Amino acid sequence: MNIILMGLPGAGKGTQASKIIKKYPIPHISTGDMFRLAIKNGTELGNEAKSYMDRGELVPDEVTVGIVKERLSQSDAKEGFLLDGFPRTVEQAEALNRIMDELDTKIDRTINVEVPEEELMNRLTGRRICEVCGTTYHLVFNPPKQEGVCDLDGGKLYQREDDNPETVANRLEVNIKQTAPLLDFYENQGVLVNVDGARDIDEVFNDIDEILQNL
Ligand code: AMP
Repeated sequence: MNIILMGLPGAGKGTQASKIIKKYPIPHISTGDMFRLAIKNGTELGNEAKSYMDRGELVPDEVTVGIVKERLSQSDAKEGFLLDGFPRTVEQAEALNRIMDELDTKIDRTINVEVPEEELMNRLTGRRICEVCGTTYHLVFNPPKQEGVCDLDGGKLYQREDDNPETVANRLEVNIKQTAPLLDFYENQGVLVNVDGARDIDEVFNDIDEILQNL
């Protein structure tokens, strides 16, 4: 079960990834998480990735493709994996196909969680986070009991700097431009499935689950 999970910021990719790995015994491989861990541990990889990540740029392919190849070669990924945040470019997708050939396997499905841009704007700009425990709320979809205050520890809620409407619009635009060629790539490979992500978390997961069960 070799799966790629795709979706724009706010599409609920992280939520669905958690649900998938809870049900299926495959590792969740997120390049962003791998880089963040390397930075936290102060490794050479972390030092290399940090400057790019701080600028919001992609870490060069020599580094990124290298760590993905190493990770996918580990024994826990033999029966399958859930890739998240990789590939981000057609070059990376081509490199991934070469890795799959070397490991004598293939990508089974690329699952794209689709949510209309307008809805993503609403989701991201309404997001509020507890400054103490990091719990995420939403002004409309998941409001705290008391405005501006965390239900769990009474911490003050804040809005992430990059969740303001202007920056969100820009982030979405950049992401849409980046992912469009990738979606075409996987469509041409015959493995792309679009899932309607503008619904309840469980409804979205049911669709994904059905796709995975039919592999
Ligand atoms: P993410 O958590 O997926 O948003 O990734 C955070 C940052 O890690 C990105 O802004 C990039 O700097 C870096 N990164 C994650 N995945 C990749 C990738 N596939 N290619 C290059 N850089 C990546």
